Amino acid sequence: RIAYVNGRYLPVAAAQVRVEDRGFLFGDGVYEVVQVYRGRFVDEEKHLNRLTRSLGELRLAWPVGRRALEAIIREVVTRNRLHDNALVYIQITRGAAKREHVFPKPGTRTTLVVTARAIPAFPRDVDAWATSIITGPDQRWDRCDIKTVNLLPNVLAKQAAKDAGAFEMAMVDGQGMVTECASSNIWIVDEHGQLRTRALGHEILPGCTRAALSELLGAEGLTLSETAFSLDELRRAQEVFITSATSFVRPITRIDGASVQDGAVGPVTRRLFAAFARHVQGGLPN
Ligand code: PLP
Repeated sequence: RIAYVNGRYLPVAAAQVRVEDRGFLFGDGVYEVVQVYRGRFVDEEKHLNRLTRSLGELRLAWPVGRRALEAIIREVVTRNRLHDNALVYIQITRGAAKREHVFPKPGTRTTLVVTARAIPAFPRDVDAWATSIITGPDQRWDRCDIKTVNLLPNVLAKQAAKDAGAFEMAMVDGQGMVTECASSNIWIVDEHGQLRTRALGHEILPGCTRAALSELLGAEGLTLSETAFSLDELRRAQEVFITSATSFVRPITRIDGASVQDGAVGPVTRRLFAAFARHVQGGLPN
């Protein structure tokens, strides 16, 4: 596998960043994960817009121009011969400098890393794609809207889920309201049949899949209520699903070991999975 690091394309095993890189020392950096489907970058513009925003919030400069980054990620995909399904990972840190919390002197070169890897084909069977979650406290900071590489609470949440035999953890804030999952946004069809997901704010990441799916709802005759729901409402929901660049639309049929309703994938989730599959595949036949 080939990685890009600050202007060079190298085998992943040989690619290096400095030991004083601020991403390594402080988690002082941002990242993006973009899905590639048969050579097409899914929601690329949304991901690069979010990257621009994340960089701005951390007062980080673009390491290269946006057009140049678009060319680099294509080159990484090509050099890795990833023509089918792949994930591109982009990370930008504040660069290497003597270890001090304050920003390094102006002109310090940021670190740009781009890697890519093959992933399994888009799931065809929504029932087989269903999975389970646990719930737990949201232990993150006040700016979860920035996609930073500081992911320790998310790592611990995801590991707790794995240890419990589940895929994700839905995190609950101090008011008993669900924020999102460790690496995905969460949606419900509530007990009144209303599709809901938490409104954007500092408490959640503005998911690109969340945004893309929102744009498809009108054509499906669905309306979305962007309102927080409680842990109790999550447990009573008619349907639950999560969204992310790697999970797409993924049904949740078990929460903390209990079935969501009768444990079958519901009709709204089924419809949205199909709509998102068409979006990813860009109209290509299956
Ligand atoms: N929320 C968190 C905390 C995430 O880490 C992610 C993605 O990794 C998402 C939500 C979903 O975002 P996207 O749809 O852009 O992948």
